Amino acid sequence: MRRPLNYVYLLRFLRLSWRQNGSAMAALRPSTAPQPQDCSAVTFLRPRNSFLGLSRTSLGITRQIYGSREKLGKFEEAHLRSLGSNKSDPTLRVEASRDSAGLAQEITNNNKLGVNKIEQGLDLFGEMKNRFLSFKRHKYLENSEHFEKLSKAQAPKFMVIACADSRVCPSTILGFQPGDAFMIRNVANLVPPVERPSETNAALEFAVNTLEVENIFVIGHSCCGGIQALMSMPDEIDRSSFIRNWVVVGKKARLSTKAVAANLSFDQQCRHCEKESINQSILNLLTYPWIEERVGKGVLSIHGGYYDFTKCTFEKWTLDYKRSNVDKEGRRVSIKDQAFWC
Ligand SMILES: [Zn+2]
Repeated sequence: MRRPLNYVYLLRFLRLSWRQNGSAMAALRPSTAPQPQDCSAVTFLRPRNSFLGLSRTSLGITRQIYGSREKLGKFEEAHLRSLGSNKSDPTLRVEASRDSAGLAQEITNNNKLGVNKIEQGLDLFGEMKNRFLSFKRHKYLENSEHFEKLSKAQAPKFMVIACADSRVCPSTILGFQPGDAFMIRNVANLVPPVERPSETNAALEFAVNTLEVENIFVIGHSCCGGIQALMSMPDEIDRSSFIRNWVVVGKKARLSTKAVAANLSFDQQCRHCEKESINQSILNLLTYPWIEERVGKGVLSIHGGYYDFTKCTFEKWTLDYKRSNVDKEGRRVSIKDQAFWC
């Protein structure tokens, strides 16, 4: 006799599978590594439910596309059902009818949680709207001539390469204003060598050859989750992981760190690699012929920077590149103009 499918069991199995997959993902997260400082809040590798926050916006766009409320009606209802109500989910309906009142209560709580998340999402955009209007009132309108010029062209002095980490925005910590810096942010502020295409290469090409920036500034930071992923990854690259496939760009920094800091703790190795990878990225910049040529001519400077947000200090240094000559110690590259801001 064919046994009816036990939906309660199925649902619990799916939840268990989800938790197990989640713990496998957690192995990639910085918080799994020992933390000497309060660095556990590394966020960029953590999945976020931004979908809820976008619900009203996406509906607004849908209205623009379809034009009429009538055409939108069924779509909107279905969309909201999928967001906020579990009543339409047959699996959950079966669970509620078969199991105890505790499960029914859980579903009710989930409904409340969904509503709360939507409300929080709206609050976030309400705050964002206020910030935008404040920017418009106090920056844009009070400097309308400057922004009118920017609307025609940009001529930034800096190309900045910084980490995507939410805590290290260069505009916030270094005060870059609109028009000051052409910027790309990626995981661990890495610059791949010229033979590895990526959006970072494209940004560099545009900034150097079209905008003709005078400075490239690679900025790293403390407690970098990308560097922790680089330092903790197995030697065999896992091609199925976008994160590992990207941070492996910094493998030379990882190797040199392990060579000179093997006796240090994992966290100390990471601190070392955070700076080592900046220098490796600076060297990788020289693999681009049009960058190397400009640096050699002295019309483009390359700088490194390190922001320690646990102490709020900033180190800055500049590449000293000798295109045709070597220094007394036989080096073509060295560091100059070091500074420590604290
Ligand atoms: Zn980072």
